[in-house]
Amino acid sequence: MSPSSIALKAPNGVSYSQPTGLFINNEFVQSSGNRTLDSIDPATEELIATVQAATEADVDKAVKAAKAAFKTWKDHEGSERGKLLYKLADLIEAKRELFATVDAWDNGKTYAEAIEGDLVEAVGVFRYYAGWADKTFGQTIGTTTQKFAYTIRQPIGVIGQIIPWNYPLCMAVWKLGPALATGNTVVIKAAEQTPLSILLLAELVKEAGFPAGVVNVINGAGGEAGSVLVSHPLVDKVAFTGSTSTGAKIMGAAAATLKNITLETGGKSPLLVFNDADIEQAVNWSHFGIMSNQGQICTATSRILVQADIYDEFTKKFIERVKSTSHVGNQWDAKTYQGPQVSKIQYDRILDYINIGKNEATLALGGKPSSAGNGKGFYIEPTVFIDVKPTARIYREEIFGPVASIAKFNSEEEAIELANDTTYGLGSAVFTTNLEKAHRVAAQIEAGMVWVNSSQDCDPRIPFGGVKQSGIGRELGEAGLEAYSQIKAVHINMGNRL
Ligand code: ADP
Repeated sequence: MSPSSIALKAPNGVSYSQPTGLFINNEFVQSSGNRTLDSIDPATEELIATVQAATEADVDKAVKAAKAAFKTWKDHEGSERGKLLYKLADLIEAKRELFATVDAWDNGKTYAEAIEGDLVEAVGVFRYYAGWADKTFGQTIGTTTQKFAYTIRQPIGVIGQIIPWNYPLCMAVWKLGPALATGNTVVIKAAEQTPLSILLLAELVKEAGFPAGVVNVINGAGGEAGSVLVSHPLVDKVAFTGSTSTGAKIMGAAAATLKNITLETGGKSPLLVFNDADIEQAVNWSHFGIMSNQGQICTATSRILVQADIYDEFTKKFIERVKSTSHVGNQWDAKTYQGPQVSKIQYDRILDYINIGKNEATLALGGKPSSAGNGKGFYIEPTVFIDVKPTARIYREEIFGPVASIAKFNSEEEAIELANDTTYGLGSAVFTTNLEKAHRVAAQIEAGMVWVNSSQDCDPRIPFGGVKQSGIGRELGEAGLEAYSQIKAVHINMGNRL
């Protein structure tokens, strides 16, 4: 065990060696300023581990390592890059129980959700982009008989990636997969709340055989290490997932050197239930859409809009569904549907919104801390507000917790108007058995993604991202590759006539 790792035993009995350093140039190193971050178990509020946090000098060192590595990595053959990504996917899969344990412990999500959801997705995304690594071609464009041009897709350079805490491993993989497949080098910063799994990933990056400096992993405070990274002059692109307010700050910082950016920010996604919907299906998906992952999903369908003639029936069934399904408990208990919220700050923020909601709408369920942890842990009862007015703050602002707001509409026109009456535009859902209406409404909703008779579907092949203040650019799918490459046009004159 290197001095920059510690022996840990998780509550589910898994023992392992946790790296704690900053991963720069394929080595774990200490913070140059003895800066550290504490990772807390949100179920017990106990310390899991203390990791190294980057200073400005550390960020600079990581960026320079990425810049140096770019010189040769960019010319690595695509198929070789693909092989390394396949290898990395295999290594993660071989340690899937460990990764699921660490993300559940650090974040509070259930072990079941981590292993069945996050780990499958992380491995799948790396394999998807491994396959693309040797398939990013340009075009040949004829102009005159004497001249033509061809285009080549080239990497952008050094990418600064900033990720959130709600899917710690997956968010890292979404960003690393396309960036590495297209030949960029990376400095990636995890969120303060969940610094652990990304360090295990860093270990596997080295084991897979990536050259030193291609992937550099740092932890650190957003306003310090994060802010230094996004404004570093040698960083060519910033890719960020997090809150809209932080996204705006990052856009401002990136402006100074005109960096390319991709932002995936907040949401207040609507879910429309029309009177011809299959109500059981609508209830099941709308429960999953707001209550899964503790409601900590940027695409959570947190505004449920129901047509007036089925409003009472839907609301009753929705509340029954929450009561019967959303069992609150710790990450390890197989009965748990909803674990603790990630941190005290998020817990307080959600309870603040719940208190605001009590003055704005009718509280139909929950509305207080849960006693699941016997006085410890950031547990909140799944909460449902009904008869919510479009002017209410709980209807308009992102809560990022297990809090559903249900409102009523009369006509299709009104449903679309209500759905679009938001500054956000990330996810959305439509429940109807009328095929024509489904497509018509899907086209009218101002959002990056629409789920018809479903919620939260996500697949490596399908572009993910938002419109309006929910983001700029797309991740995943072929669109994800475009975000990490740029087109060069080469003009050829085959003769010497003018
Ligand atoms: P939340 O409020 O849910 O924690 P944030 O958007 O603040 O969400 O955090 C998402 C990520 O952005 C984290 O990795 C965090 O450290 C980082 N971050 C926060 N502030 C800044 C900033 N000013 N510059 C760069 N990164 C930041």
